[in-house]
Amino acid sequence: MNIASVIVDVPAKQTDRAFDYKIPAQLRGVILPGMRVVVPFGPRKIQGFVTGLKEESDFQQLKSISEPIDLNPVLNRELLTLGDWLTEKTLCYKISAFQAMLPAALKAKYEKKLVLAENAERKLLPEKVRSLFQNTEEITWEDAVKGGSLPLLQKEASNGNIEIIYQVKERVKKKKVKQLFAAAAPNKLADYIQKLPGNATKQKDVLEYFLHEEGPADQKELFSMLGITTSTIKGLMQKGLLGQREVEIYRNPFGDREFEKTEPLSLTDAQRAVIIPILNSIEDNMHETFLLYGVTGSGKTEVYLQSIQRVLQDGKEAIVLVPEISLTPQMVKRFKGRFGDQVAVMHSGLSAGEKYDEWRKIQRKEVKVVVGARSAVFAPFENLGIIIIDEEHETSYKQEENPRYHARDVAIERAVNHRCPVVLGSATPSLESFARAQKGVYHLLTLAKRMNNQALPAVDIIDMREELREGNRSMFSRALLDKIKDRLEKKEQIVLFLNKRGHSSFVMCRDCGYVINCPHCDISLTYHRYNQQMKCHYCGYEAHVPNACPECQSEHIRYFGTGTQKVEEELAKILPEAKVIRMDVDTTSRKGAHEKLLDQFQEGHASILLGTQMIAKGLDFPNITLVGVLSADTMLHLPDFRSSEKTFQLLTQVSGRAGRHELEGEVIIQTYTPEHYSIELAGDQDYDKFYEREMMVRKIHRYPPFYYISLVTVSHEELMKAVSVTEKITQYIQSKLSAESIVLGPVASPIPRINNRYRYQCLIKYKREPELGPSLKKILDNYQQDIATGGLSVSIDLNPYILM
Ligand code: ADP
Ligand code: ZN
Ligand code: ZN
Repeated sequence: MNIASVIVDVPAKQTDRAFDYKIPAQLRGVILPGMRVVVPFGPRKIQGFVTGLKEESDFQQLKSISEPIDLNPVLNRELLTLGDWLTEKTLCYKISAFQAMLPAALKAKYEKKLVLAENAERKLLPEKVRSLFQNTEEITWEDAVKGGSLPLLQKEASNGNIEIIYQVKERVKKKKVKQLFAAAAPNKLADYIQKLPGNATKQKDVLEYFLHEEGPADQKELFSMLGITTSTIKGLMQKGLLGQREVEIYRNPFGDREFEKTEPLSLTDAQRAVIIPILNSIEDNMHETFLLYGVTGSGKTEVYLQSIQRVLQDGKEAIVLVPEISLTPQMVKRFKGRFGDQVAVMHSGLSAGEKYDEWRKIQRKEVKVVVGARSAVFAPFENLGIIIIDEEHETSYKQEENPRYHARDVAIERAVNHRCPVVLGSATPSLESFARAQKGVYHLLTLAKRMNNQALPAVDIIDMREELREGNRSMFSRALLDKIKDRLEKKEQIVLFLNKRGHSSFVMCRDCGYVINCPHCDISLTYHRYNQQMKCHYCGYEAHVPNACPECQSEHIRYFGTGTQKVEEELAKILPEAKVIRMDVDTTSRKGAHEKLLDQFQEGHASILLGTQMIAKGLDFPNITLVGVLSADTMLHLPDFRSSEKTFQLLTQVSGRAGRHELEGEVIIQTYTPEHYSIELAGDQDYDKFYEREMMVRKIHRYPPFYYISLVTVSHEELMKAVSVTEKITQYIQSKLSAESIVLGPVASPIPRINNRYRYQCLIKYKREPELGPSLKKILDNYQQDIATGGLSVSIDLNPYILM
């Protein structure tokens, strides 16, 4: 096999196929599918992925691969195939699909080193390799290439004796710790102890330690254990009794926290009933997609854990996806507690280096379970036994940039390849998934009751218009305020929830009604109290609040709406004695802040937790007995056919935070539209009825799950250009589709301008259109030139979740 097919790193139509390259003699056997290589391309040298090897090419005069980038494939065969699938499903370029599967550290600029594995036996290495590593544990990539030893090194790499490390400049630094070890034989140490003067107790302690303990010790730990400092060991090192070295440790995203080991609970009858079909699927090695529909607290996580346990017994691996915001320490604890070091955790809060570390643990088969957000669905396991997606209805499972994939689709595709089950879990399944379960495409499993049959909390819906009529202008209804006071007295805890999405705190002139908009986007600026700034959430534009109205010069210019900051101020006024912790993007932007605030709340440092979406999930504190939703409607009025579904889901989630333990819980939902079915039915916690109502609405308006939708968004700095391109695209699509399909457009996008670019769109609703994908791809290809030069942007989403 001396020819490699390579997908080069040039995202364009003409290069979206494999190019053949000769494998130079010294690299034969080294280059494998799934490795990245450097290849000459035109006048340049660029990166590419090897997708296959072959004996012959249809092309004459092939150029040669310049050098490999990896020693081991970074993509296995399954992931290479998955890349093709992703390309077809999301209309992205192959190179983008491959890159989406790798951690960022592998994509950035890096330095490469070859490192001798810690447990490698030098004696057993081939002569040539041994000499390369003669006086060192690591050599540079350049040295490795120069010596012509790559094939040998590659063999050792696949034996696990050598590792190739990508060092992203500045950003990724391997974390190292100092270790101490005995550098002399035990009898020498013992001799020396005898000779030490009586007052040298500390030195004695150290030597005694190494007499009794085999292996190296962490210097810091030893220092604190024995109460010694560097001066104690300095002399011992000079005498050759102790040695010191630096070793790399994985950065630990959850600190040095010890996770208490947990044992499997004995399952309830209901849990047993739902786990049996899952275990059958695992044992029979048959793919099946399950929808585990169970209210919060019904014991779903325990079912996940025991299913994974079965998978591990078979020597297979598991992927668990959880939404980014519920990837909290509490969540991680449940998996690490059960499976310990076999668990890797991947989420966006990790630095590039930390993510890379976790990925390497998977690559090196050091872990068997990964718990992570969306992109963890690409974890390079080779022997998958189950994929679990918790809170499957969460829209964060959809990636909103290229490749625009949904993790659920990827999970199912991988599970089909591995012949293993997918478990989708939720208390409020997405309409799409529940409909599939109803039709028998997914296997529906239901956990109807909470553990210990705890009642769901009582929910009160308060009509805020009524409050206003009765003269209450505050953002707290009388009922809510009374209950807050009651809980404060009883020293119980309260969660106040504010959905900040939408125009929550804009700046408006009270005299003329002028609202301050972003100068670059057609959307109002959001007021931030802490620095008196107004900010555009779309383009990042910031400005000071003006002293006078730009329109009428009135000085009565104020901010409106109820952002979390404003609620906090209000609380301070009416309940000065109450301690409040606020959680929103502003207070949690620093790394670890999220976790710290939650810990503080759990430890009882505050009685009220006030926050946005991010507090809606995962919180499970025994002392929370009241949950207040300040305004349930903010999301209802977004121009999105899923707004009712999202409102229902969110309200149900939030309500689930109350009374999960012995103390009974209560929920108050404040709203201006109490009659809306999504609010009313969230109050009743009646998913089944909501599903029925919402399905009717979707059917009438021809939305998913009855129809598929695809969205084409065009943007350009010139309005006319955006309109005319959208018109042409719409016409073209129309001509390609059957009469049954509906094309809506061209129309201005709900946000008609972002960052000085005008936005137009066309929405396609269809049931079956096998030609749609290829037609849309043609459109992209056709406008490629305009897109490449940056003037025009055409984005196509085959399953949009954001319709703005
Ligand atoms: P969910 O994931 O559906 O929200 P959990 O799995 O977190 O539910 O279960 C809710 C609570 O019940 C947790 O505190 C959990 O430890 C406990 N629990 C779950 N299964 C059992 C069981 N079989 N026996 C006893 N307690 C259980
Ligand atoms: Zn004005
Ligand atoms: Zn803007």
